[in-house]
Amino acid sequence: MKVDERAVSVIRKLKQNGHPAYLVGGCVRDFLLDKEPKDWDIATSATPDEVISCFAEPHFPVIGTGLRHGTVSVIADGMPIEVTTFRVDGAYSDHRHPSGVTFVKSLKEDLSRRDFTMNALAYDVDSGIIDYFEGEDDLAKRRIRAVGNPDQRLQEDALRILRALRFSAVLSFGIEPGLAQSIHKNKELLRQISRERIQAELSKMLLGENIGKILLDYPDVLAAFLPEIQPAVGFAQKSPYHIYDVWAHTAHSVACAIPDLLVRLTMLFHDLGKPSTFSVDDTGTGHFYQHNKRSEELAALRLNDLRFDNETIHTVTKLVRWHDAQIAPEHLPRWLNKLGEDHLRRLFAINRADALAQNPRSGAAKLREIETLEHDLDQLLENTPCYQLKDLAINGNDIQNLGVRQGPEVGRILHLLLDKIMDAELENDRDTLLVFCKTQFQVRN
Ligand code: ATP
Ligand code: MG
Repeated sequence: MKVDERAVSVIRKLKQNGHPAYLVGGCVRDFLLDKEPKDWDIATSATPDEVISCFAEPHFPVIGTGLRHGTVSVIADGMPIEVTTFRVDGAYSDHRHPSGVTFVKSLKEDLSRRDFTMNALAYDVDSGIIDYFEGEDDLAKRRIRAVGNPDQRLQEDALRILRALRFSAVLSFGIEPGLAQSIHKNKELLRQISRERIQAELSKMLLGENIGKILLDYPDVLAAFLPEIQPAVGFAQKSPYHIYDVWAHTAHSVACAIPDLLVRLTMLFHDLGKPSTFSVDDTGTGHFYQHNKRSEELAALRLNDLRFDNETIHTVTKLVRWHDAQIAPEHLPRWLNKLGEDHLRRLFAINRADALAQNPRSGAAKLREIETLEHDLDQLLENTPCYQLKDLAINGNDIQNLGVRQGPEVGRILHLLLDKIMDAELENDRDTLLVFCKTQFQVRN
């Protein structure tokens, strides 16, 4: 295994001082999966005090970040490496937080508290992989399996439910049937997990390649914190445009979407307002009038609840609101002005994902429309790169210098100029705009 030199130097130092030390957790898993590990975590029999005294020299500054949990950060050549004393967790009082940790002497005990077999592997830089729980076999079979009894492990810490779904979504691994069953059975325990942790796992999960299958197989689990999913499951759309029920369409649309969190969150929420806005006309065709507004409300409610930041909430709700807007090519400049280039491109990505998850017969035409709009947008940006007030060749001061009094009139004039530029009636050129203003508005000279 090719280990970062800095991590090796920390391990060597511990070993020289008589303390067994191993690489553990995600870095060993990622290495065996041929992925670049995000960080190098070390487990050792040394107590935190012993670790600190090993590195009592300027070459290796230490930070006692998680001393209560036995973790010391050693800075090796600028890189923080977490060194954690072998430990097991105390009793779990609330399905999330152990009441304390106990340091132990053996690596095996430390590995046995870890969630999944693929995360319970260790690596000795001198002798190689250590695998007490058949983690390598599970990696080879591409499956996520609990270390020990799944019910017990999920009941100790319900966050593991979401970690399992996240790893499955991101790695495209299956979930071992016993663990899968236990996930469904223990889903209600998710109510005791902090919203921030749920948000973090949901966000990572949504970006995973295998998210479609997770959404299809575990809607009941996700409904523990997004209850509006439940009525969408199996909800027939009675529409020629659709081949899936509301939830299956949602799942497919998320999976088809580009891996951008704002886009994928929008897909997750875009149709959740459908079940409560459903009606059937005389011909037996289903309609969901104003479902975008209902979906927008639900998105705002749930994103707030999950403590997403304001920028994300603002953008996703806006994109949900506009997800099925008909954009006429001639109105592109206005849309550009309304959303800005990045979000308008996201809206096209949303339209595309939505169309890909519909009836392919009607979807194909929509996909062509989107492609044309994207092409038109490229052209527009090339020819008229001006679409926001700040891009105008003149500003409010210039307008005032022409004799217009400070106040709403200044903004009104600027907007009018912008509209004319976007409609190609005016050029965004300083002199042109000033001359236009002088002739159009009642100004001093
Ligand atoms: P990534 O960093 O890619 O999200 P990871 O597996 O490294 O994945 P971390 O949260 O960094 O995840 O945790 C490091 C290791 O700690 C894991 O590999 C696992 O062995 C253990 N671990 C983390 N969270 C839990 C948990 N909730 N229950 C049991 N073990 C856990
Ligand atoms: Mg990690």
